[in-house]
Amino acid sequence: MKLVFATHNHNKAHEIQALLNDQIELITLDEIQCFEEIPETAATLEGNAKMKAAYVVEQFNMNCFADDTGLEIEALNNEPGVYSARYAGEDRDPEKNMALVLEKLRDKSNRKARFRTVISLYWEGEFHEFEGIVEGEITTEKSGAKGFGYDPIFKPENSEKTFAEMDLTEKNTMSHRARAFEKMVAFLNAEA
Ligand code: IMP
Repeated sequence: MKLVFATHNHNKAHEIQALLNDQIELITLDEIQCFEEIPETAATLEGNAKMKAAYVVEQFNMNCFADDTGLEIEALNNEPGVYSARYAGEDRDPEKNMALVLEKLRDKSNRKARFRTVISLYWEGEFHEFEGIVEGEITTEKSGAKGFGYDPIFKPENSEKTFAEMDLTEKNTMSHRARAFEKMVAFLNAEA
């Protein structure tokens, strides 16, 4: 059974394939000759994930899934949320995004934040949603050089390290994305 991952990122796809049983063959957008960027213009993570999955269903009529992730900061009314990639501008610069977050939180004592991933899966005629969350806080300065995005300023709860101070294996034991994917994989392995 083939399942499309609505991404152009082959590394992400390899990570997920390793978790699936061999009844399911994961394929990426490039492999179905879909080379365009799928629009992500919804106002929520749920909306964007479903928009991407629905695009593949409409164009290719195949089982598929898509994910969307955001950083939600309590003292900023859950900003940047769905705008995480382009919080400080359309150039999607992680350094500028982190600087903006640190500036906005400068006088705030509540530094609680969480990463949230939503996956929309279209499977045998129905959409299913899976969510993964990691709670934590925004540090007062950057620390660490691994990972990507907001990793240098996000410290998950019960950890002394930021995500950027962890290797991927350690980050994957607690990350939002890993938790959402584990839920989807459990569903698919039970179905297929
Ligand atoms: P995407 O939906 O996976 O493309 O994530 C959207 C944006 O959220 C990224 O461009 C990053 O700014 C941020 N983000 C998502 N996942 C992570 C993470 O694991 N660490 C740090 N930032 C992340």
